[in-house]
Amino acid sequence: MKDVVVIGAGPAGIHASYLLAQAGLNVVLFEAQGRVGDRAICSGVVGDEAFPRFDLPKQPILSDIRCIQAVSPGGRKLEYSTDGPLAQVIDKAEFNRSLAQRAVNAGAELQLGCWVNSLQVEKHSVEVQYRHTDAGPASVRAQVAVITTGVNGSLNRALGLAHPRQFLRAVQAEMALPPNGHGNATRIFVGQGVAPGAFGWEIPLGKNRWRVGLMTEDNPDPYFAKLVHRVSPNADMSTLRIDRKGIAQASVGRCVVERVIAAGEAAGHIKTTTGGGIYYGLLSAELVADVLVRAFRSMNFNARSLGEFERYWRSTFGNELMVGYFARKLASHFTDGQIDKFFDAANASNLLVRLNGKLKFDWHHRALLSTLRSLMTLPGGFGVG
Ligand SMILES: Cc1cc2nc3c(=O)[nH]c(=O)nc-3n(C[C@H](O)[C@H](O)[C@H](O)COP(=O)(O)OP(=O)(O)OC[C@H]3O[C@@H](n4cnc5c(N)ncnc54)[C@H](O)[C@@H]3O)c2cc1C
Repeated sequence: MKDVVVIGAGPAGIHASYLLAQAGLNVVLFEAQGRVGDRAICSGVVGDEAFPRFDLPKQPILSDIRCIQAVSPGGRKLEYSTDGPLAQVIDKAEFNRSLAQRAVNAGAELQLGCWVNSLQVEKHSVEVQYRHTDAGPASVRAQVAVITTGVNGSLNRALGLAHPRQFLRAVQAEMALPPNGHGNATRIFVGQGVAPGAFGWEIPLGKNRWRVGLMTEDNPDPYFAKLVHRVSPNADMSTLRIDRKGIAQASVGRCVVERVIAAGEAAGHIKTTTGGGIYYGLLSAELVADVLVRAFRSMNFNARSLGEFERYWRSTFGNELMVGYFARKLASHFTDGQIDKFFDAANASNLLVRLNGKLKFDWHHRALLSTLRSLMTLPGGFGVG
């Protein structure tokens, strides 16, 4: 009988396992892949502030981002630069492995190659049934289970818990490209012909390597081919290793039932503006650990006791998810002409300078609301209402 079973070794599950093991609990972390970090498809952009905040390992850092340039459909530019690093670009597989090593050092048991198929909540425990790649089916009992299975929400769904109901479809490749002639800025491309409903990106990794990708509500493949051609007109698509993955959006409902908590991207704890899930995954894990450590003191694992998690995450970043989601949805209706007009107005009114102080890499809702207010007061109107 374990204290806690954590399912899914991404940033959320690994960090929760680390904190729970550090608090002296008997934790087992199940991961479907044979090695932590395999199939960790990601652009790997993590806000600089997250490193001291979560005491994150620095060795997986490949480069830093000091300048972000957004490019409109008509080629207008909006640029945001900082003196120090705004964000770091990591090797996500290496990052997950470093975090996992820390969790194991703290006493967590890591079980690889184990696909969890079901959770049965019983009166005095939860039974976790899984299939090991070599050893076949098996089960384990624990006081509590934490579901951190990322974009795969099947375990949550089976228990009636919040699970992703909408997805952005992402596609990405790592490419060798010369300097982009824009001071090696990270470039974000927007527009109905570029990535409807979201955006494309070009992120420097150093040594002339770049991550080029996009996410969209549509089939991303034709847009990706156009984006690759735009950043590298002679690129041969057939030589690229192209990764595809969904990004969860719009989870609604509760994250807690008796003896079970869903957290991280599996519970929709992911930035609804940019699809960044590492920061909120780590934050979500921290809140899970806090609630569980207290629940173990009173040995009370009912929905009311674990429900503290619900209150915590909603008050910590619930607003961010909601405002971000509606802002992205609103922006997805802008025509290319309206986007160009917005870029012109934002440059003319020094919007980014005026937002300074409200612009935080992982906290967007204040800047978004302020931008919305600015749009509404533009002379001549913006034409979105
Ligand atoms: C193309 C792309 C680019 C991205 N770029 C960024 C970025 O720049 N910055 C950022 O912050 N985020 C980014 N994200 C999102 C980020 O990668 C995820 O949101 C984040 O990793 C979620 O963390 P998690 O721990 O909740 O889940 P995950 O990292 O997805 O981990 C879930 C783990 O659970 C395992 N699993 C699933 N089901 C089971 C099961 N039944 N049994 C056992 N194991 C299971 C999976 O194998 C996986 O290892 C990007 C995503 C994509 C697709």
